[in-house]
Amino acid sequence: MRYKKIVVAGVLAAGTVGCGVNTSKPAEQATSEPATYLSRANMDTTVKPGDDFFLYVNGTWIRNTAIPGDKTRWGSFDELRDKTNKSVHTLLEDVSKEKATAGTAQFNVAAFYKSGMDTAAIDKAGIAVLQQQLDAIHAISTPQQLLDVVIANGKTGLQTVFPNFIGPDDKNVSENIVQFTQGGLGLPSKDYYTDKDAGAEKNRQAYKAYIGKILQLGGADSVTAGKQALAIFDLEQKLAAASLYPKEMRDPQKMYNKFSLDALSKQTPGISWKEVFAKMGINGQDSLLVTVPQYYKTLSGLLHSTPLDTWKTYLTYNLLSDMAPYLGRSFDEAHFDFYDKTLSGQKEQKPRWERVMQVINNSIGEQLGKLYVDRYFKPEAKQKMVELVQNLQDAFSNRIKNLDWMSDATKQKAEAKLGAFMKKIGYPDHWKDYSGLEITAEHYAQNVLKAAAFEYNRNLAKLGKPVDRTEWGMTPNTVNAYYNPAFNEIVFPAAILQFPFFDFGADDAVNYGGIGAVIGHEMTHGFDDQGAQYAADGNLKNWWTPEDEKKFKEKTKMVEEQFNRYTVLDSVHVNGSLTLGENIADLGGITIAYDAFKKTKQGQGNELIDGFTPDQRFFMSWGQIWRGKSTPERAKQLIKIDPHAPAEWRGNGPLTNFEPWYKAFDVKPGDKMYKPENERAKIW
Ligand SMILES: [Zn+2]
Repeated sequence: MRYKKIVVAGVLAAGTVGCGVNTSKPAEQATSEPATYLSRANMDTTVKPGDDFFLYVNGTWIRNTAIPGDKTRWGSFDELRDKTNKSVHTLLEDVSKEKATAGTAQFNVAAFYKSGMDTAAIDKAGIAVLQQQLDAIHAISTPQQLLDVVIANGKTGLQTVFPNFIGPDDKNVSENIVQFTQGGLGLPSKDYYTDKDAGAEKNRQAYKAYIGKILQLGGADSVTAGKQALAIFDLEQKLAAASLYPKEMRDPQKMYNKFSLDALSKQTPGISWKEVFAKMGINGQDSLLVTVPQYYKTLSGLLHSTPLDTWKTYLTYNLLSDMAPYLGRSFDEAHFDFYDKTLSGQKEQKPRWERVMQVINNSIGEQLGKLYVDRYFKPEAKQKMVELVQNLQDAFSNRIKNLDWMSDATKQKAEAKLGAFMKKIGYPDHWKDYSGLEITAEHYAQNVLKAAAFEYNRNLAKLGKPVDRTEWGMTPNTVNAYYNPAFNEIVFPAAILQFPFFDFGADDAVNYGGIGAVIGHEMTHGFDDQGAQYAADGNLKNWWTPEDEKKFKEKTKMVEEQFNRYTVLDSVHVNGSLTLGENIADLGGITIAYDAFKKTKQGQGNELIDGFTPDQRFFMSWGQIWRGKSTPERAKQLIKIDPHAPAEWRGNGPLTNFEPWYKAFDVKPGDKMYKPENERAKIW
């Protein structure tokens, strides 16, 4: 299902389109920590650290490791996700054997799990579970009814052309507002509709075949389905033309367009926003935010100019495709074949339990998360994390004080923003309430729809009330972290507080080079090219003097150009502007983490461990967390849509700008990663 995303900057890429995040499969040796926490067996010491540090630390692993057939990426993060998922799997198996009271987390999670694992019942139910929605689409006979069905489907998470969510108003973050963004596309981004190369054309052909396949599974004959697929693709192409590329959506000022309902209706004559709001169940709101107004102007025309029959097949296709992973085997396989195999290069389907687990995580994530935390999370890890975050914050504050390029006036504001960071570690203080949601062990697809409807109503109820800043945007069992500018908060779910990021037994070099750099990364997001546009109170408003802003932009430009020069698969260029925020955060993260590390006893000493100095171990830990590889299909996909650069460049790129790394490994002119000082980007 295509879920709405809150604006968060995770340290890692989440799953892409077509649902599903990563991981699975028993890989016994994979996550056991080496005795020294840095594995010599993974290194390639024939590579000079100054030539390719990523390969120096990970080369043997890269050469000898095959990506598991049910994965499109494999490496440090994925191994940890795998380990975490296996823990959750044990939990799911256990709770599904226990007796629980209806409505409790145990009951809902167990029932959802059983419903998802019962493939015989799912096969038997077929698409009859969607009969009501299919009938509603079939009965459409006017553009108004078309809009009504789109809105009704949106209430169960099937948003198609009208993707919207409720969240803080960027320029008045104490109030929630309804926000509409672009959507309606079945391919991952606009690029897929406009790219001219042979690979892109092949993907488009495969996508048209997929649309036809889904319609046939829904009952259409092959000739009709083929024709309908072309019409649907043609409609999507028009929506794509009115949409923005992912890199164009990184400018929060450009994305902020506030309208009164009347004013927007004038620009979109085919859509009365007052009626839309009434039908959505929204009362007492007279304005909204729209990220891409052009998209809605075009959509408004298309609702009337495109034949209703095309719209009806478009909605039928979207309903069946979005729900395919929860329907019988033939739908599920068709969905896998296109989204996972063709687009991402995944060779085999993930185990059933893992996919069901991900759906539960997306549907009633905090109920699953609560069970996870109760069983697996160590309170000491939270305590240690509080301490680490404080050390990083102090180090960052010190950096700001000593910046040679920023005026005192801007420094004061930057310090105020850093000091105001809200920190969330491990799990929420207040778990979401699921009272009234009825999950059953019998109807998987219905559970998915009911949970989405429940969240829709939860969000609707936020309007007109103060913004709840205790909410989390990730579940505790997620291996990731994020910064959220509207709350000015950094958030670290329980599952990231594990090796290779963090371990109680590891030396400070390993922990600061791992989780320390992740903490620094999230903190820097508050000051990257996007985050820097938000003030201490979370509002989108400028706090920079014009001169400082100009200098900041010159510095970030250097990072953009640096990453534009990198390639993957020999010829595909990294997109320096799409990945700018993450690259700034990586550079800031390693810098601040290093400063904090140098305050520790180990950081100030010279004791060798396994033949390496403390500084060398710090950077090797950093290199180790980026250990990983992707299928070529996945790598090409991520270049277009992922705001993070590929792992090898996240590992190597920031180091080429960082003097202590040169010193630690005696990197000299002539080494491939060497850059003269005046070419090194230095921001924070
Ligand atoms: Zn990030």
